[in-house]
Amino acid sequence: MAKQAFKAESKRLLDMMINSIYSNREIFLRELISNASDAIDKMYYKALTDDSLTFDQKDYYIKIDADKDSRTLKVMDTGIGMTEEELENNLGVIAKSGSLAFKNENEIKDGHDIIGQFGVGFYSAFMVADKVTVITKAFGSDQAYKWESTGADGYTIEPSEKETVGTEIILTIKENTEDESYDEYLEEYRLRSIIKKYSDFIRYPIKMEVTESRLKEGCEDEFEEYKEEQTINSMVPIWKKNKNELTDEDYVNFYQEKHYGFDKPLKHIHIKVDGTIRYNAILFIPENIPFDYYSKEFEKGLELYSSGVLIMEKCADLLPDYFSFVKGMVDSEDLSLNISREILQQDRQLKFIAKNIQSKIKRELENFLKNDRDKYELFYNSFGRQLKFGVYNNFGQDKDVLQDLLLFYSSKEEKLVTLDEYVSRMPEAQKYIYYATGETNERIARMPQTELVADKGYEILYFTEDVDEFAIKMLMSYKDKEFKSVASGDLDIDEESKEKTKAEEKENKGLLDYMKETLSGKVKDVKISTRLKNHPVCLTADGEVSIEMEKILSAMPN
Ligand code: ADP
Ligand code: MG
Repeated sequence: MAKQAFKAESKRLLDMMINSIYSNREIFLRELISNASDAIDKMYYKALTDDSLTFDQKDYYIKIDADKDSRTLKVMDTGIGMTEEELENNLGVIAKSGSLAFKNENEIKDGHDIIGQFGVGFYSAFMVADKVTVITKAFGSDQAYKWESTGADGYTIEPSEKETVGTEIILTIKENTEDESYDEYLEEYRLRSIIKKYSDFIRYPIKMEVTESRLKEGCEDEFEEYKEEQTINSMVPIWKKNKNELTDEDYVNFYQEKHYGFDKPLKHIHIKVDGTIRYNAILFIPENIPFDYYSKEFEKGLELYSSGVLIMEKCADLLPDYFSFVKGMVDSEDLSLNISREILQQDRQLKFIAKNIQSKIKRELENFLKNDRDKYELFYNSFGRQLKFGVYNNFGQDKDVLQDLLLFYSSKEEKLVTLDEYVSRMPEAQKYIYYATGETNERIARMPQTELVADKGYEILYFTEDVDEFAIKMLMSYKDKEFKSVASGDLDIDEESKEKTKAEEKENKGLLDYMKETLSGKVKDVKISTRLKNHPVCLTADGEVSIEMEKILSAMPN
């Protein structure tokens, strides 16, 4: 039978996997179990929502079977299975689900980056196996199919035999090499510990034949071994557990198992609400910016479960855009299983949960800022921009949520400060919160416009990102102090010198008129300035928009 070639990107990724760029090979089992669990979820969901199907809890399980003689490891599930077409589409292209949409060649060059960024899913099997065979029968189909591949050179699909609906993945485990051992993936104790570590909270039983020992009948000190099928995982979903039963590592494992990210979470938020509307949620703030975060492809959202059954993979309505970096899941008993996307949007319960989540995230971030400033700054370097866009895009509507989470560089200590820190140390005479915009902190510090303000001993916020000033314009003020650009025409600082300036202006009218005429069309006015110390001249903005902001506005497409 003719072999099908993998799609180009898939082939390259497979090559990398097979050459074991990824050091943590044991995760292949987590990936296969997670796929099995997803497939059972789909079947379970069908049974729950389709009255013509009867379902029995004990029909849903995953089974692991290792055989040293044939060097095979089987992962079998009673999930929804795959049709011939699905085999082709799902296993012929790496990570169809969209976790892996390669953008360009360059991104593929560094294997570490790729595997760090994307879910490798099913293909991770090739880290430990020479050959992978998938035998599957889809729900509603009479025909089973077999998919087989020995790696990057391609795969075959042919009709096959299988009694029941579901999927069986058979790995032919690699032979040990001089430097690497693969035998461990056939060892019962090793498999058990991998399952415990990564898949303990999978909702369906993961069964395996294990060896136990017992006293021989009639003996007092002689033991005998016997085999018994056991359920290895505890099956309690992590979000149903008490926080004090869980370690940081449990949350990290959950994050990685769920492919929320392939970094580690910077912080987790475990929420249990037991009010009129009940829900549990586990939310994460990622450590790294997802590769597509600041692109159009990025989709925000949380997984949504109804009584433990996944009903939506990315429920966007649960997160405001400015918290779109938050990953995780929500489970509520008060949501209906049959709920459709359209109904969800207007669902009162869902709105309540979303609002609740928003305020919890806000509070967590505030605590984070207060109690772990260094780590918060790490977070802010990645996602602060999104918070600022949040202020801007909502026309300041959610400023109560966001304004205390913002940080800006300041002239004072050349570090990030909060608005509250700024305002609380303002001298009495200072009326405004001053800011200056420019490309870098160094450049701003050298701007003539900052001289007078700095000379007064007033702190200046340094705005180096284009969104900074836009966001501030939406805030308008903080704790009744208005924001003022150091480049604005009227700094409102030196009252007494105003008279003097007027006199000087009269005296030098001829010169000023001449300059105005010469620069006509380029500047609006030429004035005597009180703000300069070391520089002979500076440009100021007319009205409330700074020169930087004008530049951005005029560069924007109409
Ligand atoms: P992901 O799980 O992120 O979609 P994978 O590479 O892990 O990516 O799996 C690819 C696809 O193959 C899955 O989305 C699913 O459609 C299909 N698949 C994999 N394993 C199974 C299984 N045991 N039963 C049914 N479908 C499966
Ligand atoms: Mg998967």
